[in-house]
Amino acid sequence: MLVYIDGEYLPKEEAKISVFDHGLLYGDGVFEGIRSYKGRVFKLDEHLQRLYDSAKAIMLKIPIPIEDMEEAVLETLRRNQLHDAYIRLVITRGVGDLGLDPDKCPVPTIVIITDKITLYPPNFYDDGLEIVTVSVRRNYTEAVSPRIKSLNYLNNILAKIEGKQAGVEEVLMLNAEGYVVECSGDNIFFVKDNVIVTPPTHLGILEGVTRNTVIDLARELGITVEEKVFTRHDLYTAEECFLTGTAAEVIPVVKIDQRIVGNGSPGTVTQKLIEEFHHVTDVLGTPIYPE
Ligand code: PMP
Repeated sequence: MLVYIDGEYLPKEEAKISVFDHGLLYGDGVFEGIRSYKGRVFKLDEHLQRLYDSAKAIMLKIPIPIEDMEEAVLETLRRNQLHDAYIRLVITRGVGDLGLDPDKCPVPTIVIITDKITLYPPNFYDDGLEIVTVSVRRNYTEAVSPRIKSLNYLNNILAKIEGKQAGVEEVLMLNAEGYVVECSGDNIFFVKDNVIVTPPTHLGILEGVTRNTVIDLARELGITVEEKVFTRHDLYTAEECFLTGTAAEVIPVVKIDQRIVGNGSPGTVTQKLIEEFHHVTDVLGTPIYPE
């Protein structure tokens, strides 16, 4: 496996960065998780735009233009002869001293890792997931905005730990005011009276690329999608619930805090969206290899 670091393609064993890198010392950096399907990178432009937007929000200037980053992603995939892959892009503030000061880090570090995708077990998609609300709240928007896909994932990791202790794979996170925002690594939706509802971005969520894809697909199918503020009560009384994310894709939720959602199996709207989602991932995307 070859890993891209600052313009070089290095074997996995040699792909190392300094212990003085502020990505390690302080979680000072941003990242992206992207997928390719059948030789095409899905929504590459959207992911790269979110990466550059996240970097801008933390005042980190990525030293190469977005077009070069795109080419670096494609070249890393080609050198690893991957078609169906998971791509991890990491940009850190770079190597500095032991102090916080980002100005002591003259050059950001760029890392691109491409690997075979590990899929969730198929029964998650057939039977649906159980989730529980955790006590740890999603980051307050005026602290570290959840819209920034930063290397600071401790908030989500603490939530994940609570979920694992409760024996579930994914968890429901609320914001400081107690409104539903998202899960530790996915966005959340519910369906009621033929309307799909998901929290608005200003509430403190990551604006998921999969979330936006699903909103577009639903609207194309003629289903109303509302981005609005809601509470756990709305989820408990929903007909359907599902999560979206690059790794998870579209995944049904059938139990929330011990309440059965709908009739306890994945709903028809969710199933239709899963089908449509697979259809677009199979045909859209930036080709890795010349066609
Ligand atoms: N929320 C969080 C906190 C995430 O980490 C992710 C995964 N990137 C998502 C939502 C889903 O975003 P996307 O669809 O872009 O993968």
